Amino acid sequence: MPLTILTSETPPGAPSFDSPATIAALAASNGSAVPAGATVVGITIPVLAHDFTALNFHTRNSGTEFRFNTGTLSLTLRQEVHVSNGLGPCARTVWLQHENLHLADNSRLLSDLDRELRADAVFASFLVTPVAWHPRSDFASVQSQIAARIGAVFTRLTNAAAVRRDSAGEYRRVERQIRARCGHSLDNVLRRGEYGQGIDILQLALNNEPSILPRLAVDGVYGPRTEARVIEYQRNNGLEDDGVAGPDTQDSLGITGL
Ligand SMILES: [Zn+2]
Repeated sequence: MPLTILTSETPPGAPSFDSPATIAALAASNGSAVPAGATVVGITIPVLAHDFTALNFHTRNSGTEFRFNTGTLSLTLRQEVHVSNGLGPCARTVWLQHENLHLADNSRLLSDLDRELRADAVFASFLVTPVAWHPRSDFASVQSQIAARIGAVFTRLTNAAAVRRDSAGEYRRVERQIRARCGHSLDNVLRRGEYGQGIDILQLALNNEPSILPRLAVDGVYGPRTEARVIEYQRNNGLEDDGVAGPDTQDSLGITGL
């Protein structure tokens, strides 16, 4: 029976918001490659766990030597996302969208792992086409060598994917998005489809007003529920009910210049 390699993924947990110093330390210890001059504000860390319990081995010389021959190697990917807490809520949202691209890149690499591991000469010599016999006393050490090869192969793949993703062009795109979405002040007109810190203040103010609609999540996203609350507020207060929070609506809510 040949070796079977099974891969699976545990969904990533909630992102962790850490200090800029922690983010820099994580980036350094995980070999993060960002464009020259750029600051790392977010990092996705893929961790690949292995389970050797369904691998089979055979022995010779009265059990004093062994080698793996068949069985199933199970590999489980779990990813962690860290974003700097130095960013405002709006910029965090945009950065998390960038980190989601890394999450997807790394998930896709799982389907290459079978081929890449079998192509690795050291891995293959232990598990795919085993030739050498090992002393029984090396059982733990052989397993750690296999684990190290799996880690090295996967890290090579994920690092290459991260370098491709974190191009100077991608960083410019993310920075443009942050400027476009998060640069509002409350002097601006706020409308559906926008993101930003002014919008969370608008949502807080609307939640203090009488309404027959559900309370708004204060998430800084001007979606249909926020628009509906704005229209309702405008109608209740004799304003033009266009669903756009311009200067008159903001004045009336008492949030101008906040
Ligand atoms: Zn990145």
